[in-house]
Amino acid sequence: MLEKSLKKTIENLQNNKISIRELNQEYIDKIKTKSELNIFIHFDEQKILDQVSELENDNSNKKLKGIPLAIKDLFCTKKMPTTAASKILENFNPTYESFVTQKLLDDGAIFVGKTNLDEFAMGSATDTSYFGNTINPLSKESEPLAPGGSSGGSAAAVAADLCLGATGTDTGGSIRQPASFCGVVGIKPTYGLCSRWGIAAFASSLDQAGVFTHNVEDAAILLESTAGFDKRDSTSANIKIPNYYDNLTDDLSGKTIGIPKEYSIDGTPEEVSKIWEDAIKVLEKKGAKIKNISLPHTKYALPTYYIIAPAEASSNLARYDGVKYGYRSDEISSLDEMYENTRGQGFGKEVKRRILIGTYVLSAGYYDAYYLKAQRVRKLIANDFNEAFKECDLIVTPTAPSAAFPLNQEQDDPIKMYLNDVFTVPASLAGLPGISIPFGKDKNDLPLGIQILGKHFDEQQVLNGALLLERSYE
Ligand code: GLN
Repeated sequence: MLEKSLKKTIENLQNNKISIRELNQEYIDKIKTKSELNIFIHFDEQKILDQVSELENDNSNKKLKGIPLAIKDLFCTKKMPTTAASKILENFNPTYESFVTQKLLDDGAIFVGKTNLDEFAMGSATDTSYFGNTINPLSKESEPLAPGGSSGGSAAAVAADLCLGATGTDTGGSIRQPASFCGVVGIKPTYGLCSRWGIAAFASSLDQAGVFTHNVEDAAILLESTAGFDKRDSTSANIKIPNYYDNLTDDLSGKTIGIPKEYSIDGTPEEVSKIWEDAIKVLEKKGAKIKNISLPHTKYALPTYYIIAPAEASSNLARYDGVKYGYRSDEISSLDEMYENTRGQGFGKEVKRRILIGTYVLSAGYYDAYYLKAQRVRKLIANDFNEAFKECDLIVTPTAPSAAFPLNQEQDDPIKMYLNDVFTVPASLAGLPGISIPFGKDKNDLPLGIQILGKHFDEQQVLNGALLLERSYE
């Protein structure tokens, strides 16, 4: 009775083909057999069974009633600790629920646990976590692979079929790149579609919640559940949320698909270029018009992102000082020393690097040269997209420059790690919606992803494009 489909599972539950208890017990058992992958930071069987009992006594007709989901450990949850994969929040028990997780709970979802991530979502391999690496479930035994990051635990949880969907956050690619590495669907909505309230902040002008699922239909269902206006997030969009699932169609005839020439980057493996070409051919065959477009400032996107994101991070992470919550060092002889030792011991290497970069680019002497300039370039990048979307409905590119790489491969070279984000950060800087769907394999039989970008708040067309590619690939 277990289906790799949230949609079908909802039907099976409604038709009493399986009970909420049986379903969740199956997932609990599966999670226990995969503990070596280190997907969960928090997993507590009893807490899952408690949620089951609560729902068994609930007669209402909630749309995700009993559906097991995994939650990135960056979302504050009342009944489970929230660590952001950092020592500094190791024992943090939020007193409130994030907007997104509350919406899912309101719809009757069951949280099977909190998933591993890069510390404060800074990374591309889930290897900066204080709680150790997550292993990509698609790895061969001889060579453990990275699941991507930062939402690597959530992508891996879906790929290993330990839940029917998972939440993630994407600041510069953290949903799309791990989705690509793990062979699952991952959607980052338009900035502002899902409230940031209750998500540990990394770079507030870029952070956006989204979801991972086994397929596009399920992504439409979960996106509908998590989106919505929230006055506690000043950048939350007050728009009517469409019925993404009901409006899904794989008919793209007459639509124009933009192919940006700047995304053909030297050094991109042939296999990645090949699946991109294959996707374009499929879209054309199905009646879409293909148009070559230009996004001239693309090459500045990575350096721009790696100024703006650390700048905002250095400011957001100032709150972890050992006073109000989180870790506090024992070695304290003065107030300054408490701050220094708490932060020195509580943050990992990558987080410290970002804080240093961020503080530097915001410092009085360098603000104009770095931060201000990056803000201006960000505007130019956004303008490129605005111009391009006058000529096309969707933009199609590869998601990442490679398939999943071996664990530890890129760890000692931050710049190499940052290059993972080359195809994902431009849309993040412009606040646009993007999805990654599995499309093709590399020579080692590892999945590769295609990214589809849309206009602001046009998640519907993004999902429709993804549905067409998904159906044409199967
Ligand atoms: N890999 C990027 C970074 O390290 C993106 C992370 C994210 O989207 N949270 O900043």
